[in-house]
Amino acid sequence: MSAEPIIQITHLKKQFGDHLVLDDINLSVSKGEVVSVIGASGSGKSTMLRCVNLLENPTAGEILYHGVDITSKENDLQKYRASVGMVFQQFNLFNNMTALENCTVGQIKVLKRSKEEAKETAMTYLRKVGMEQFINAKPAQLSGGQKQRVAIARSLAMSPEMLLFDEPTSALDPQMVGEVLTVMRQLASEGLTMIVVTHEMAFARDVSSRVVYMEGGVICEDDVPSVIFKKPNNPKTAAFLERFFAN
Ligand code: ADP
Ligand code: MG
Repeated sequence: MSAEPIIQITHLKKQFGDHLVLDDINLSVSKGEVVSVIGASGSGKSTMLRCVNLLENPTAGEILYHGVDITSKENDLQKYRASVGMVFQQFNLFNNMTALENCTVGQIKVLKRSKEEAKETAMTYLRKVGMEQFINAKPAQLSGGQKQRVAIARSLAMSPEMLLFDEPTSALDPQMVGEVLTVMRQLASEGLTMIVVTHEMAFARDVSSRVVYMEGGVICEDDVPSVIFKKPNNPKTAAFLERFFAN
């Protein structure tokens, strides 16, 4: 029925000292799925994404990428991060480089593309996110929404198989949230596989194929948006959403 997963997380645990931050996380994501991860601050959402991107080492459990353990020695970390890219809340652009250079450097260094090919590919994606007029701007000259669109173009230029988004609009002024969500909605409609940690409930409800609710380092519920938002099976999900919409 469902395709072979791109990413399969089984029995993942992450501990910082004696603080268990992720407890028995099981999640798989197949091609074309958009999985939104919701939950209160401190519930472990970023740590889970950071484990998938190997910015944190799992304490126990497995994360398989096409069936291969990502922590194995055979995994080329830089290539893996090109295939499973990450977009951060704080953009993480190189401040000394222009928008265009930000979008070419990884292609040249990791994918060994020529400068010309890297530039052409970067331009394609900078155009796609509506940033073609700003290719020579440095991050300091750009608004938050513009920086985030460059960061998305940079990830796309690496020809990823899927992208991880960690609260991509949480650091933005409210008037800039829409321009970034529009880009993300378009990517979803084109079939890009994504895991999106977000507090944007309209995005989670309307764009996702699945919504995962996390609390206390545990996945409490993983279901289609209509179940999560209309008739969640776990009372913890219901309580979270009630609090969320009351505020
Ligand atoms: P969320 O993204 O859902 O807000 P996080 O994954 O950032 O949650 O954090 C989950 C828990 O893990 C929090 O209690 C946080 O303090 C703790 N934590 C996250 N990163 C570290 C770290 N590097 N060292 C120690 N504790 C951490
Ligand atoms: Mg977080």
